Amino acid sequence: MNFDLTDEQKAIQSLARDFAQGEVRPRAEEMDREAAFPYDLVEKMARLGFMGLPFPEKYGGAGADTVSYALAVMELARVDASTAITMAAHVSLGATPFSLFGTEAQKQKYLVPLAQGKQLWGFGLTEPNAGSDAGNCQTKADLRDGKWIVNGTKAFITNSGTTISGGTTITAVTGKRADGKVEISNLIVPQDTPGFTRSKKYNKMGWRASDTRELAFVDAVLPQENVLGKRGDGLKQFLTTLEGGRISVAALSVGLSMGAYDEAISYAKERKAFGKPIGSFQAISFKLVDMLTEIEHAKLMVLKAAWEKDEGRDFNKSASFAKLYAAELSHRAVNAAVQIHGGYGFMDEYPVSRMYRDQKINEIGEGTNEIQRVVLSKMMGL
Ligand SMILES: Cc1cc2nc3c(=O)[nH]c(=O)nc-3n(C[C@H](O)[C@H](O)[C@H](O)COP(=O)(O)OP(=O)(O)OC[C@H]3O[C@@H](n4cnc5c(N)ncnc54)[C@H](O)[C@@H]3O)c2cc1C
Repeated sequence: MNFDLTDEQKAIQSLARDFAQGEVRPRAEEMDREAAFPYDLVEKMARLGFMGLPFPEKYGGAGADTVSYALAVMELARVDASTAITMAAHVSLGATPFSLFGTEAQKQKYLVPLAQGKQLWGFGLTEPNAGSDAGNCQTKADLRDGKWIVNGTKAFITNSGTTISGGTTITAVTGKRADGKVEISNLIVPQDTPGFTRSKKYNKMGWRASDTRELAFVDAVLPQENVLGKRGDGLKQFLTTLEGGRISVAALSVGLSMGAYDEAISYAKERKAFGKPIGSFQAISFKLVDMLTEIEHAKLMVLKAAWEKDEGRDFNKSASFAKLYAAELSHRAVNAAVQIHGGYGFMDEYPVSRMYRDQKINEIGEGTNEIQRVVLSKMMGL
């Protein structure tokens, strides 16, 4: 077994680390406080190729592999979860469906500007009454006179309402299948679609500098060709998209845990109590050892899932394991990091306080912990 990264993977990791530490870290606290979307950082990430990292160069991407993508997400999340999710949701939820299922014309029209980072794109699956149970989609699209008429609501959609958002791909019921079950298709909804509106940004506990909105469709009119790939493939397409998305959230969770560890170890070396650095007390040093042990474990799980994907193997189980373990690890890591900071950890000025708030969504987004366990139980034949 070879655990070495390739030169290209190392180069992308180091580029992401330099950008994150040099440009994102100094701004993270203010962006979180102001809930300010970082347009300039997105533009720089586009120039660095991050917004289209895993897509082929012929579609405007950087042609990198999933391992490199996961490493870049980790470095961003290590300093700021909001910037990391903006990039990761754009790549794995916004642009990936075009790359995997789009027709050639759809790839040219939508994927190219997305991979170049000229636009952001959302993925609208969740509804006010359908989250984990996403197949229970209530949004409907009726074909009338050669146009789709869409009605419904989507909830919590990332990257859907910035001034550079080009649109959102949504799931909608488009008819009935031969077996009587509902037919679900994915519809491409550009921002200027008549009848399509976005709410104000939600006021969130974490990921505050990322863009999350509710979407409303009231007799929204779409051309017939705005079905992504094949009509009726919506359910299959979004499940496949979420499989890859789990690698993203697992990488976000590992990155956040690494950031919590960075802050905690440097604080443990500086802060003195009873005349000694607190890191010299075993109660503190053991916490740090446990954090790093688990981070190493979770990182290997994420990279294994990413590697399997790159090799064209079935990575579904590894991605679910990695997402579940890394999300729960991030909970333990931020908790320990705040504890190591004592009262200062409760103060906004300390990054661990923001990390503590940013962490929770890792256990909810792209399949809650419970849903990961449901998925894994099924894979285990239970
Ligand atoms: C900041 C943010 C960004 C998001 N971005 C996007 C996005 O870009 N696109 C998008 O489509 N969605 C997005 N989401 C939605 C997210 O994916 C959902 O919130 C998540 O899937 C859970 O759905 P829900 O909130 O409806 O919870 P529910 O499904 O109502 O779940 C509530 C609770 O019940 C549990 N539960 C449900 N079913 C079962 C079961 N069968 N067995 C055991 N427990 C169960 C859940 O685990 C959870 O604990 C985002 C959410 C947030 C908060």
